[in-house]
Amino acid sequence: MGESPGQAERQLIDRARSVRRRLSKVDLPRIDPAATPGLPRLADDGHKEWSRDQVRRLGVLLAERQNCLYARAKAGVDRRRVLLVLQALDCGGKDGTIRSVVGALDPLGVQQRAFGPPTEEERAQHFLWRISRDLPPAGFIGVFNRSHYEDVLVVRVRGLAPEKVWHRRYDEINAFEAALAADGVTIIKVMLHISRAEQGVRLLARLDDPIKRWKFNPADLDDRQRWDEYQRAYGDVLTRCSTTAAPWYVVPADRKWYRNWAVANLLLAHLADLDLSYPEVDLPVEELRARLEANNG
Ligand code: AMP
Ligand code: MG
Repeated sequence: MGESPGQAERQLIDRARSVRRRLSKVDLPRIDPAATPGLPRLADDGHKEWSRDQVRRLGVLLAERQNCLYARAKAGVDRRRVLLVLQALDCGGKDGTIRSVVGALDPLGVQQRAFGPPTEEERAQHFLWRISRDLPPAGFIGVFNRSHYEDVLVVRVRGLAPEKVWHRRYDEINAFEAALAADGVTIIKVMLHISRAEQGVRLLARLDDPIKRWKFNPADLDDRQRWDEYQRAYGDVLTRCSTTAAPWYVVPADRKWYRNWAVANLLLAHLADLDLSYPEVDLPVEELRARLEANNG
Protein backbone atom coordinates (compact mmCIF):
# COMPACT_ATOMS: atom_id res chain seq x y z
CA MET A 1 0.00 0.00 0.00
CA GLY A 2 1.54 3.26 -1.07
CA GLU A 3 0.96 6.38 0.96
CA SER A 4 2.04 9.74 -0.34
CA PRO A 5 5.03 11.45 1.31
CA GLY A 6 2.73 14.30 2.37
CA GLN A 7 0.42 11.87 4.13
CA ALA A 8 3.25 10.08 5.94
CA GLU A 9 4.59 13.45 7.05
CA ARG A 10 1.22 14.59 8.37
CA GLN A 11 0.89 11.36 10.34
CA LEU A 12 4.29 11.85 11.94
CA ILE A 13 3.37 15.42 12.87
CA ASP A 14 0.00 14.35 14.31
CA ARG A 15 1.70 11.72 16.41
CA ALA A 16 4.37 14.19 17.52
CA ARG A 17 1.64 16.49 18.80
CA SER A 18 -0.03 13.66 20.65
CA VAL A 19 3.28 12.56 22.22
CA ARG A 20 3.80 16.17 23.29
CA ARG A 21 0.41 16.21 25.01
CA ARG A 22 1.29 13.02 26.86
CA LEU A 23 4.64 14.42 28.02
CA SER A 24 3.30 17.71 29.31
CA LYS A 25 2.15 16.25 32.62
CA VAL A 26 4.71 17.43 35.11
CA ASP A 27 3.70 15.71 38.34
CA LEU A 28 7.15 14.19 38.85
CA PRO A 29 6.47 11.71 41.69
CA ARG A 30 3.81 10.08 39.52
CA ILE A 31 5.97 9.61 36.43
CA ASP A 32 7.66 6.24 35.96
CA PRO A 33 11.15 6.69 34.48
CA ALA A 34 10.71 3.40 32.59
CA ALA A 35 7.37 4.35 31.03
CA THR A 36 6.91 4.93 27.29
CA PRO A 37 4.05 7.44 26.91
CA GLY A 38 2.64 7.76 23.41
CA LEU A 39 4.54 4.80 22.02
CA PRO A 40 2.29 2.82 19.66
CA ARG A 41 1.70 -0.83 20.48
CA LEU A 42 3.56 -3.04 18.06
CA ALA A 43 2.69 -6.61 17.14
CA ASP A 44 6.19 -7.84 18.01
CA ASP A 45 8.55 -6.44 20.61
CA GLY A 46 10.78 -4.69 18.14
CA HIS A 47 10.33 -1.28 19.75
CA LYS A 48 14.01 -0.57 19.83
CA GLU A 49 14.52 -1.04 16.09
CA TRP A 50 11.21 0.66 15.33
CA SER A 51 12.07 3.74 17.33
CA ARG A 52 15.54 3.95 15.80
CA ASP A 53 13.97 3.95 12.33
CA GLN A 54 11.38 6.52 13.44
CA VAL A 55 14.05 8.81 14.88
CA ARG A 56 15.76 8.73 11.49
CA ARG A 57 12.51 9.71 9.74
CA LEU A 58 11.74 12.39 12.29
CA GLY A 59 15.27 13.69 11.84
CA VAL A 60 14.66 14.24 8.12
CA LEU A 61 11.56 16.32 8.87
CA LEU A 62 13.39 18.24 11.59
CA ALA A 63 16.28 19.07 9.28
CA GLU A 64 13.91 20.34 6.57
CA ARG A 65 12.19 22.67 9.00
CA GLN A 66 15.46 23.79 10.49
CA ASN A 67 16.64 24.68 7.00
CA CYS A 68 13.56 26.87 6.46
CA LEU A 69 14.06 28.59 9.81
CA TYR A 70 17.70 29.31 8.95
CA ALA A 71 16.87 30.49 5.42
CA ARG A 72 14.20 32.88 6.69
CA ALA A 73 16.63 34.47 9.13
CA LYS A 74 19.32 34.78 6.45
CA ALA A 75 16.78 36.39 4.13
CA GLY A 76 15.98 38.84 6.91
CA VAL A 77 12.27 38.04 7.01
CA ASP A 78 12.08 36.19 10.32
CA ARG A 79 13.91 36.43 13.66
CA ARG A 80 12.39 33.36 15.24
CA ARG A 81 14.63 30.81 16.91
CA VAL A 82 14.25 27.69 19.01
CA LEU A 83 15.77 26.84 22.37
CA LEU A 84 15.88 23.27 23.60
CA VAL A 85 16.73 23.14 27.30
CA LEU A 86 17.95 19.77 28.57
CA GLN A 87 18.06 19.08 32.28
CA ALA A 88 18.72 15.81 34.06
CA LEU A 89 20.52 14.29 36.97
CA ASP A 90 23.92 12.76 36.20
CA CYS A 91 23.68 9.92 33.65
CA GLY A 92 20.23 11.15 32.62
CA GLY A 93 21.27 11.05 28.97
CA LYS A 94 21.68 14.69 27.95
CA ASP A 95 24.78 13.99 25.88
CA GLY A 96 23.26 10.92 24.24
CA THR A 97 20.12 12.85 23.33
CA ILE A 98 22.18 15.59 21.73
CA ARG A 99 24.14 13.04 19.72
CA SER A 100 21.10 11.04 18.60
CA VAL A 101 18.48 13.73 18.05
CA VAL A 102 20.23 17.05 17.59
CA GLY A 103 22.77 15.14 15.47
CA ALA A 104 20.13 14.84 12.74
CA LEU A 105 20.14 18.62 12.29
CA ASP A 106 22.49 20.67 10.16
CA PRO A 107 25.34 21.77 12.48
CA LEU A 108 25.42 25.09 10.60
CA GLY A 109 22.21 26.18 12.32
CA VAL A 110 22.73 24.61 15.74
CA GLN A 111 24.26 26.39 18.72
CA GLN A 112 25.09 24.09 21.58
CA ARG A 113 26.03 25.39 25.03
CA ALA A 114 26.89 23.45 28.18
CA PHE A 115 26.65 25.16 31.55
CA GLY A 116 28.96 24.13 34.35
CA PRO A 117 29.72 25.87 37.63
CA PRO A 118 29.84 29.63 36.94
CA THR A 119 33.25 31.21 36.47
CA GLU A 120 34.39 34.06 38.68
CA GLU A 121 33.31 36.53 36.00
CA GLU A 122 29.89 34.90 35.76
CA ARG A 123 29.42 34.78 39.52
CA ALA A 124 29.90 38.54 39.65
CA GLN A 125 26.80 38.94 37.47
CA HIS A 126 23.09 38.16 37.75
CA PHE A 127 22.51 34.43 37.24
CA LEU A 128 20.73 35.04 33.93
CA TRP A 129 23.63 37.05 32.51
CA ARG A 130 25.53 34.09 31.10
CA ILE A 131 22.28 32.60 29.81
CA SER A 132 21.34 35.78 27.90
CA ARG A 133 24.81 35.89 26.41
CA ASP A 134 24.48 32.38 25.01
CA LEU A 135 20.99 32.51 23.52
CA PRO A 136 20.68 31.27 19.93
CA PRO A 137 20.71 33.89 17.17
CA ALA A 138 17.83 34.31 14.71
CA GLY A 139 17.25 31.19 12.63
CA PHE A 140 19.17 28.93 14.99
CA ILE A 141 18.20 25.99 17.12
CA GLY A 142 19.96 26.47 20.44
CA VAL A 143 20.60 23.56 22.75
CA PHE A 144 21.30 24.09 26.43
CA ASN A 145 23.03 21.19 28.12
CA ARG A 146 22.04 22.30 31.65
CA SER A 147 20.82 25.85 32.02
CA HIS A 148 19.61 28.61 34.35
CA TYR A 149 17.62 25.89 36.12
CA GLU A 150 20.83 24.77 37.82
CA ASP A 151 20.47 27.99 39.79
CA VAL A 152 17.38 26.56 41.51
CA LEU A 153 18.57 22.92 41.46
CA VAL A 154 22.22 22.31 42.38
CA VAL A 155 22.37 25.73 44.03
CA ARG A 156 19.41 24.86 46.24
CA VAL A 157 20.36 21.26 47.02
CA ARG A 158 24.02 22.01 47.73
CA GLY A 159 23.15 25.19 49.59
CA LEU A 160 25.28 27.41 47.31
CA ALA A 161 23.00 30.39 47.91
CA PRO A 162 20.59 31.27 50.74
CA GLU A 163 16.97 30.24 50.29
CA LYS A 164 15.76 33.81 49.94
CA VAL A 165 18.06 34.20 46.93
CA TRP A 166 17.16 31.05 45.03
CA HIS A 167 13.51 31.26 45.99
CA ARG A 168 12.86 34.45 44.05
CA ARG A 169 14.53 32.97 40.99
CA TYR A 170 11.44 30.98 39.94
CA ASP A 171 9.59 34.24 39.25
CA GLU A 172 12.65 35.77 37.63
CA ILE A 173 12.98 32.77 35.34
CA ASN A 174 9.29 32.90 34.39
CA ALA A 175 9.52 36.60 33.54
CA PHE A 176 12.74 36.07 31.57
CA GLU A 177 11.30 33.20 29.56
CA ALA A 178 8.02 35.01 28.89
CA ALA A 179 9.99 37.94 27.44
CA LEU A 180 12.02 35.58 25.25
CA ALA A 181 8.89 33.83 24.01
CA ALA A 182 7.28 37.18 23.18
CA ASP A 183 10.40 38.02 21.20
CA GLY A 184 10.12 34.90 19.04
CA VAL A 185 11.97 32.20 20.95
CA THR A 186 10.26 28.83 21.02
CA ILE A 187 11.38 27.38 24.35
CA ILE A 188 11.19 23.61 24.82
CA LYS A 189 12.27 22.47 28.28
CA VAL A 190 12.93 18.79 28.75
CA MET A 191 13.71 16.95 31.93
CA LEU A 192 15.19 13.54 31.22
CA HIS A 193 13.83 11.51 34.11
CA ILE A 194 15.83 8.45 35.18
CA SER A 195 15.42 6.15 38.15
CA ARG A 196 17.97 5.90 40.92
CA ALA A 197 18.56 2.25 39.97
CA GLU A 198 19.29 3.12 36.35
CA GLN A 199 21.65 5.90 37.42
CA GLY A 200 23.49 3.32 39.52
CA VAL A 201 23.86 1.01 36.53
CA ARG A 202 25.16 3.82 34.34
CA LEU A 203 27.59 5.13 36.96
CA LEU A 204 29.00 1.63 37.40
CA ALA A 205 29.40 1.29 33.65
CA ARG A 206 31.35 4.56 33.61
CA LEU A 207 33.61 3.29 36.33
CA ASP A 208 34.15 -0.16 34.83
CA ASP A 209 34.61 0.77 31.19
CA PRO A 210 37.95 2.50 30.48
CA ILE A 211 36.34 4.16 27.45
CA LYS A 212 33.67 5.77 29.63
CA ARG A 213 35.78 6.41 32.72
CA TRP A 214 36.60 10.01 31.73
CA LYS A 215 32.94 10.82 32.32
CA PHE A 216 33.02 9.65 35.92
CA ASN A 217 33.07 12.53 38.34
CA PRO A 218 33.43 11.49 42.00
CA ALA A 219 31.31 14.53 42.96
CA ASP A 220 28.38 12.86 41.18
CA LEU A 221 28.24 10.40 44.09
CA ASP A 222 27.55 13.29 46.48
CA ASP A 223 24.65 14.36 44.28
CA ARG A 224 23.41 10.75 44.16
CA GLN A 225 23.27 10.76 47.96
CA ARG A 226 20.98 13.76 47.75
CA TRP A 227 18.61 11.97 45.36
CA ASP A 228 15.41 12.80 47.24
CA GLU A 229 16.34 16.46 47.62
CA TYR A 230 16.99 16.68 43.89
CA GLN A 231 13.63 15.07 43.12
CA ARG A 232 11.96 17.68 45.31
CA ALA A 233 13.92 20.50 43.69
CA TYR A 234 13.02 19.21 40.21
CA GLY A 235 9.40 18.81 41.31
CA ASP A 236 9.29 22.49 42.31
CA VAL A 237 10.92 23.59 39.06
CA LEU A 238 8.35 21.65 37.07
CA THR A 239 5.34 22.97 38.93
CA ARG A 240 6.54 26.56 39.32
CA CYS A 241 8.11 27.12 35.89
CA SER A 242 5.90 25.22 33.47
CA THR A 243 4.16 28.05 31.64
CA THR A 244 2.30 28.43 28.37
CA ALA A 245 5.19 30.54 27.07
CA ALA A 246 7.78 27.94 28.06
CA PRO A 247 6.40 24.52 28.94
CA TRP A 248 8.29 21.74 30.68
CA TYR A 249 8.15 18.17 29.47
CA VAL A 250 9.17 15.16 31.53
CA VAL A 251 10.64 12.43 29.32
CA PRO A 252 11.00 9.04 31.02
CA ALA A 253 14.61 8.24 30.21
CA ASP A 254 15.49 4.82 31.59
CA ARG A 255 15.12 3.47 28.04
CA LYS A 256 17.44 5.37 25.77
CA TRP A 257 15.54 4.47 22.60
CA TYR A 258 12.30 5.85 24.03
CA ARG A 259 14.04 9.00 25.25
CA ASN A 260 15.44 9.75 21.79
CA TRP A 261 12.12 9.09 20.09
CA ALA A 262 10.24 11.28 22.59
CA VAL A 263 12.61 14.24 22.30
CA ALA A 264 12.57 14.03 18.48
CA ASN A 265 8.76 14.17 18.66
CA LEU A 266 8.79 17.17 20.99
CA LEU A 267 11.06 19.07 18.64
CA LEU A 268 8.97 18.19 15.62
CA ALA A 269 5.69 19.18 17.29
CA HIS A 270 7.10 22.61 18.11
CA LEU A 271 8.81 23.14 14.75
CA ALA A 272 5.60 22.15 12.95
CA ASP A 273 3.72 24.81 14.95
CA LEU A 274 6.07 27.44 13.53
CA ASP A 275 4.50 26.75 10.13
CA LEU A 276 7.73 27.42 8.29
CA SER A 277 8.11 27.95 4.58
CA TYR A 278 11.07 29.05 2.50
CA PRO A 279 11.39 32.81 2.13
CA GLU A 280 10.14 34.37 -1.07
CA VAL A 281 13.17 35.76 -2.82
CA ASP A 282 12.68 38.72 -5.11
CA LEU A 283 15.35 38.35 -7.79
CA PRO A 284 15.28 39.24 -11.50
CA VAL A 285 15.88 35.59 -12.31
CA GLU A 286 15.74 35.86 -16.10
CA GLU A 287 18.13 38.79 -16.21
CA LEU A 288 20.59 37.05 -13.88
CA ARG A 289 20.38 33.84 -15.87
CA ALA A 290 21.13 35.75 -19.05
CA ARG A 291 24.19 37.33 -17.45
CA LEU A 292 25.41 33.98 -16.19
CA GLU A 293 24.94 32.35 -19.55
CA ALA A 294 26.65 35.21 -21.36
CA ASN A 295 29.67 34.88 -19.08
CA ASN A 296 29.77 31.17 -19.65
CA GLY A 297 29.57 31.56 -23.44
P1 AMP B 1 28.51 18.14 33.54
O1 AMP B 1 27.17 18.57 32.94
O2 AMP B 1 28.57 16.70 33.88
O3 AMP B 1 29.65 18.63 32.73
O4 AMP B 1 28.63 18.87 34.95
C1 AMP B 1 28.47 20.20 35.10
C2 AMP B 1 28.34 20.49 36.58
O5 AMP B 1 28.17 21.89 36.74
C3 AMP B 1 27.16 19.84 37.24
O6 AMP B 1 27.54 19.16 38.40
C4 AMP B 1 26.25 20.99 37.56
O7 AMP B 1 25.46 20.79 38.71
C5 AMP B 1 27.24 22.13 37.73
N1 AMP B 1 26.58 23.43 37.52
C6 AMP B 1 25.93 23.86 36.42
N2 AMP B 1 25.41 25.08 36.61
C7 AMP B 1 25.74 25.44 37.86
C8 AMP B 1 25.48 26.59 38.66
N3 AMP B 1 24.77 27.62 38.18
N4 AMP B 1 25.98 26.62 39.91
C9 AMP B 1 26.69 25.59 40.37
N5 AMP B 1 26.97 24.46 39.70
C10 AMP B 1 26.49 24.39 38.45
MG1 MG C 1 27.40 16.37 38.92
